[in-house]
Amino acid sequence: MSVKIPIETSARHIHVSEEDFHRLFGDEAELHFKKELSQPGQYLCEERLTVVGPRGNFENIAILGPFRSKTQIELSLTDTRHIGVPGIIRQSGDIAGTPGCTVIGPSGQLQLENGVIVAKRHIHMTPDQALIERVRDNQDVFVLTKSYGRTVIYADVVVRVSRNFRLAMHVDTDEANAFSSDAEPYGVIVQLFGDDYDTHKWIDEELSGIHR
Ligand SMILES: [Zn+2]
Repeated sequence: MSVKIPIETSARHIHVSEEDFHRLFGDEAELHFKKELSQPGQYLCEERLTVVGPRGNFENIAILGPFRSKTQIELSLTDTRHIGVPGIIRQSGDIAGTPGCTVIGPSGQLQLENGVIVAKRHIHMTPDQALIERVRDNQDVFVLTKSYGRTVIYADVVVRVSRNFRLAMHVDTDEANAFSSDAEPYGVIVQLFGDDYDTHKWIDEELSGIHR
């Protein structure tokens, strides 16, 4: 059985380590809560930062709390082109080998060696929901989006399972703009193949006349 999965759009944002935060905002500074986000414990902060790349910059980038062990900047592919860094698609936290950038705060600036990612689209769900959907943590699935004239089936959507999650699919602004949705967008997981499908193999099969 499939259930409606609410689709939420993540605009460009930054997660900061406590150490980096103090270098940007001063020793005495602290994060100020602005708004609860859909995943329990995650929140939007009042504080804003400027991110600078070789070709451009973004001001007023929102910080999401709480602190993380490493600073990470999440941009869309359009955003990475704007500031002039390669767009590397990664799961949150997996920042080895990703491009860096300059981050400017009111009390200091940082030259990051890495940390700029384009977040891999993903679904947060609980273990119970994973059972119902017959999926497991870290599995890539297809999601058919409800749309009005521009339906998209997203492949390579990674499932993240935790007791602390609330059911939601997270896409960036490029992905959200790719399908025409209404005020409360949602999608359903579609099991087109087994759980070990490979879109490259699928393309090769289609090209050689094998239709599943
Ligand atoms: Zn997420």
